[in-house]
Amino acid sequence: MTAVALGLPRVRPTGAPSTLGRPDTEALVDRYGRVAHDLRVSVTEKCSLRCTYCMPAEGLPAIPREDLLTPAEIGRLVGIGYRAGIRDVRFTGGEPLMRPDLAEIVRRTRAAAPGVRISMTTNAIGLDKRVDELVDAGLDRVNVSLDSIDRRHFAELTRRDRLPQVLAGIQGALGAGLSPVKLNAVLMPETLAGAADLLAWAVEHGCRLRFIEQMPLDADQNWDRDQLVSAERLLDVLGARFDLTPVGREDPSAPAEEWAVDGGPATVGIIASVTRSFCGDCDRTRLTAEGTVRSCLFGNEEVDLRALLRTEGHDDAATDAAIVAAWQGAMWAKPFAHGLDRGAPDTGAIGGPADDPEAFARTERSMGAIGG
Ligand code: SAM
Ligand code: SF4
Repeated sequence: MTAVALGLPRVRPTGAPSTLGRPDTEALVDRYGRVAHDLRVSVTEKCSLRCTYCMPAEGLPAIPREDLLTPAEIGRLVGIGYRAGIRDVRFTGGEPLMRPDLAEIVRRTRAAAPGVRISMTTNAIGLDKRVDELVDAGLDRVNVSLDSIDRRHFAELTRRDRLPQVLAGIQGALGAGLSPVKLNAVLMPETLAGAADLLAWAVEHGCRLRFIEQMPLDADQNWDRDQLVSAERLLDVLGARFDLTPVGREDPSAPAEEWAVDGGPATVGIIASVTRSFCGDCDRTRLTAEGTVRSCLFGNEEVDLRALLRTEGHDDAATDAAIVAAWQGAMWAKPFAHGLDRGAPDTGAIGGPADDPEAFARTERSMGAIGG
C-alpha cells in the first residue's frame, strides 16, 4: 500500500478491488445499479484562495511535480473513461487556473474524447485573461464559486481580498459566450444574510446561482452538523425577497433542485447534499491530481491508475485494458451513500450513526485535495 500526500487515503494496489458479481460490461457500473457518466478531474492542489470551508489558511501541502498527472496522461485516462461511457468531464482542484498548462490539458482531453462536454469548476481569478485560449482548446462551460457579493465578507470567507478579480473573471466568461455561467455558493451561517443580494446580482448578470449545503470536507475539520444551514432555511430567507416556484431538477441525476425566481426565466438551485442526499442517482467518478480513482467524495479508498500508466508505461492496448479494469473495479466498490454502505459497521461516521442517511464517512482528504 502506498501513502498519498494531502491526507492518507488507502490506495489499493491496482486491480485489487473485488469484482465478484460484476456484469460483463465496459461501463463503470456499481453494486447499486448506478453507472458513471460524469468524470471530475482534479488537476492541482494549489489555489489562489483559502475558503474556510475547504482549505487550511496555509494552503495544502504541495504535491511533488513529478506526482501530478501530465496533460498527456490526463488525456489518455479521459480517453479510456470515454470508451467506458464517460460523457461529461469537469476539471477542478484546488484551482484549475493555477495550472499554466490547463489549455493543453483541455486540448488533450478534447482530442482523446471528442464527444464529451468539457467544463471547469473555478474561482475565476485570472479567467478573463485565459478564457479565449481555453475555449479554443475545447472548454464548453464553467461553474464559478462565489459565496458573497460583499467585498469585506468575501475576503473573510476566502481569506483573500480578491472579489474584483473574481467578478472580472465572470465577466470574461460571459463575454466569451460560455453561458450559462453557473455560480456555486456554499451555504453557511455566515453566507445566509447576503444570500438574497447574491441572487439579485446573479439574476441581473444572467448567471445561474446554486447554493450547496456545506459538507464535512473542510481541511480544518470544523464542520458541525448543528451549524448546518439547511435548504429549508435558505428558502425562507430568499422567499422573503423573491417569489420562488419549484421547477424540479434538470434531469434525475442533476444534484440541484431548481426554483423559478419571480416567475422566471431566472432560476435558483439548491444542492441539498446533506439533508436531501442524491447519492442514489450519483453518476460520478473522480480522478485525483495524482492519478488515483475515487468512486465517492467520502471515505478513503482510492485506486492508483498512475502506477499502471507509468510502470507498464507503453501506449499499448494491454495497458489501456489494465487501466479500465482497475477503474471498473474501483467503481464496483462504490459505497451506497456518503462513503458508507448501509449495514456496514459504524467506523466513526460523522453527523450520525452509519445507518443515518445524513451520516458521512470520514475522509482524510479535504475538498480541495479531492477535487469538488
Ligand atoms: N477552486 C475551484 C472552485 O472553488 O470552484 C474548484 C475546486 S473547489 C474544491 C470545487 C467546489 O467545491 C466549489 O464549488 C466549492 O465551493 C465546493 N466546496 C469546497 N468545500 C466544500 C464543502 N466543505 N462543502 C460543500 N462544497 C464545498
Ligand atoms: Fe480554493 Fe476552490 Fe477550495 Fe476555495 S473552494 S479554497 S477557491 S479550491
